Amino acid sequence: MLIEQPWLLYRAFFPKTHWRFQTGEKAVYLTFDDGPIPEMTPWVLDLLDKYHIKATFFCVADNVRKYPEIYRAILQRGHQTGNHTYHHLQGWKTNTETFLKDVEAAAELIDSPLFRPPHGHIRPSQLRAVLKRFKVVMWDVVSRDYSNRQTAEQVFENVTKYTRNGSVIVFHDSLRSKGKLEEALPKSIDWLLQQGYEFKLIPQ
Ligand SMILES: [Zn+2]
Repeated sequence: MLIEQPWLLYRAFFPKTHWRFQTGEKAVYLTFDDGPIPEMTPWVLDLLDKYHIKATFFCVADNVRKYPEIYRAILQRGHQTGNHTYHHLQGWKTNTETFLKDVEAAAELIDSPLFRPPHGHIRPSQLRAVLKRFKVVMWDVVSRDYSNRQTAEQVFENVTKYTRNGSVIVFHDSLRSKGKLEEALPKSIDWLLQQGYEFKLIPQ
């Protein structure tokens, strides 16, 4: 069964992670996972500049190694980055020692106190260790822009259906999102602005 909302029970297992920020303000937190890559990230950066919006990019360190100039552009243009492991490892499938070494290696390229586990999959032992050094940021709105079974229209609808005050919205600057994001992202931003949402950076 596929659901857009993270499982409430799963969330309850990880009380120290951030799924949505408690805020009285009409604010959302845009996040982009899995970049930086030349095919998508510069396009996202240009679009965000056009709207004067700042976002948080959870980067895969292997991509940072390949495209350091794009990584630098993210920071130079006023956005912030977070650690998304070096090799996009899934915690459930990886032993804790290997997982933590991968996070450490990523931290050498990504100087950030923020961490997001790939797919949101992390074992309690991994989480305990990661929490000593990082603020762990999950999400409460999955655009599902990465899915081949979703159209750009459906990606947009996922955003409009689940966003509320303090929502952390996840998109992907990845090849799998290409073809959907170009349509769904500007449409989503337009809608969020129309609704009066302000775009904020995740507090570090
Ligand atoms: Zn990812």
